[in-house]
Amino acid sequence: MASVTLHIQSPPLNNDVVSLPRNHFPIVTFKTTFFGSSLTANGKPLSLPKTFRTQPVITSSSSSSSSSTHTFDVVIIGAGIIGLTIARQFLIGSDLSVAVVDKDVPCSGATGAGQGYLWMVHKEPESDTWDLTMRSYKLWQMFAEKVRAQGLDPLQELGWKRTGSLLVGKTAKEAATLKKKVKRLSEAGLRAEYLTSDALRLKEPELEVGKDGGAAFLPDDCQLDAQRAVAFIQKANRHFSTKGRYAEFFHDPVTGLLRSDSSNEVEGVRTFKNTLYCKKAVIVAAGCWSGSLVHDLFRESDILLNVPVKPRKGHLVVLENFSSFRLDHGLMEMGYVDHLHDALDRKSSHSVKVEEGQTPSVSMTATMDTMGNLVLGSSRQFTGYSTKVDESIINHIWKRAGEFFPKLKELPLEDFTLDRKVRIGLRPYMPDGKPVIGPVPGLMNVIIATGHEGGGLSMALGTAEMVADMVLGNLGIVDLAAFALQGRCC
Ligand SMILES: Cc1cc2nc3c(=O)[nH]c(=O)nc-3n(C[C@H](O)[C@H](O)[C@H](O)COP(=O)(O)OP(=O)(O)OC[C@H]3O[C@@H](n4cnc5c(N)ncnc54)[C@H](O)[C@@H]3O)c2cc1C
Repeated sequence: MASVTLHIQSPPLNNDVVSLPRNHFPIVTFKTTFFGSSLTANGKPLSLPKTFRTQPVITSSSSSSSSSTHTFDVVIIGAGIIGLTIARQFLIGSDLSVAVVDKDVPCSGATGAGQGYLWMVHKEPESDTWDLTMRSYKLWQMFAEKVRAQGLDPLQELGWKRTGSLLVGKTAKEAATLKKKVKRLSEAGLRAEYLTSDALRLKEPELEVGKDGGAAFLPDDCQLDAQRAVAFIQKANRHFSTKGRYAEFFHDPVTGLLRSDSSNEVEGVRTFKNTLYCKKAVIVAAGCWSGSLVHDLFRESDILLNVPVKPRKGHLVVLENFSSFRLDHGLMEMGYVDHLHDALDRKSSHSVKVEEGQTPSVSMTATMDTMGNLVLGSSRQFTGYSTKVDESIINHIWKRAGEFFPKLKELPLEDFTLDRKVRIGLRPYMPDGKPVIGPVPGLMNVIIATGHEGGGLSMALGTAEMVADMVLGNLGIVDLAAFALQGRCC
């Protein structure tokens, strides 16, 4: 057994991540071999390429000047909701050891901005992502139940609330579409109901959709708090570090792949500070950075790979301790569905010209979190990797919300200067509207898992299960074909 000192870093859990001074982090010392067992969950022995070290070199130093080498079964690039839930899946579903590497900390990417709805109301039965989303939806419900079974409160631990969701429309045309949607969702096995504007007023008295409007209502839909859920998952993952099966390398960007001289196989990754060998797989879950990262990692190889994932910026406005009215359900306007699927060059009906060449779109989403904060969204725009706050977008979100909640029109946004927070994240957008989850052709031990755009929280647990099944050789529950790289990235 090797004695290992890892600096386990407690990340700040908001999106405006502040790097804590290094000596602020608690230092955890534990004994580990870093390998766990040498058998996989399905009992197959791991075959070690000859070039692997059989013992790790010891210390992961937080000092950028010292570089060290470690070996794990699986190395995951990215500590967003996708990377962390994949790590969790390996930890609870196998005996493999896992390292999670991030250029920053958890919640510094899109995950920290997420509004937290895990809704099915805006999803389309029989679409390519339906089975994955449904599977994830069930896994999240089982997750919350497990938390409860441990004597913990899912509301406190995950911000978990079964609020139900309302997809609302204002016109007779939208109402007709919503009725058809309710029928399809019911046929797909979900409890769904169409609400007329009068019935809707009884559920949400402050919401105004006009006499022709209505809503699709899914009473079982749930929401969570992304930052609480990530903190909970991370804490659970860290329990495995004492068994030598889990380690985190944060503030440590991946800079290269290690390829074997003899077989050309990927043997691990090089980071800014460390060398991390892997015995089973490297998982790229780097959100909207995955495309450029993969491009850099494979630049000098014979593998032609283009993961066309792009950053799609989103703003959310959070009004803290909002007391003017309560929301008992999660809400989303029907226009969100078009807005979500808007192609790069298409304007949405609520688009607003901010700068030349940019056509952001805004559609109303509204939730109330566990702290009583009103969370209003959301915008979508392609402006590269900038996460700068854009006041014109904030105003647009506020104005759009006011069209559904007349009371907000009486409350100038300026009145909330002190109690207003803005969350910004870069959604990993794939032009064909579905995530990429699968091995790189020709390099079966490198798996990409990204491109979840506005549904990464919802789809995380299903994605994690899918990735772990691929590595462990298990028969998957969700069909992989729609998410494969072939024809989309190579
Ligand atoms: C405003 C907004 C609201 C949203 N609301 C919802 C919602 O209600 N429900 C829902 O399901 N989804 C929602 N989403 C979408 C969801 O947040 C994303 O789909 C999801 O967070 C993507 O997770 P990820 O792990 O793929 O990416 P990220 O969270 O972006 O994580 C990627 C990680 O990779 C790291 N990384 C990048 N490059 C490197 C490198 N070279 N080396 C090491 N690490 C690297 C980054 O630092 C980052 O931590 C929302 C998104 C936004 C922006």
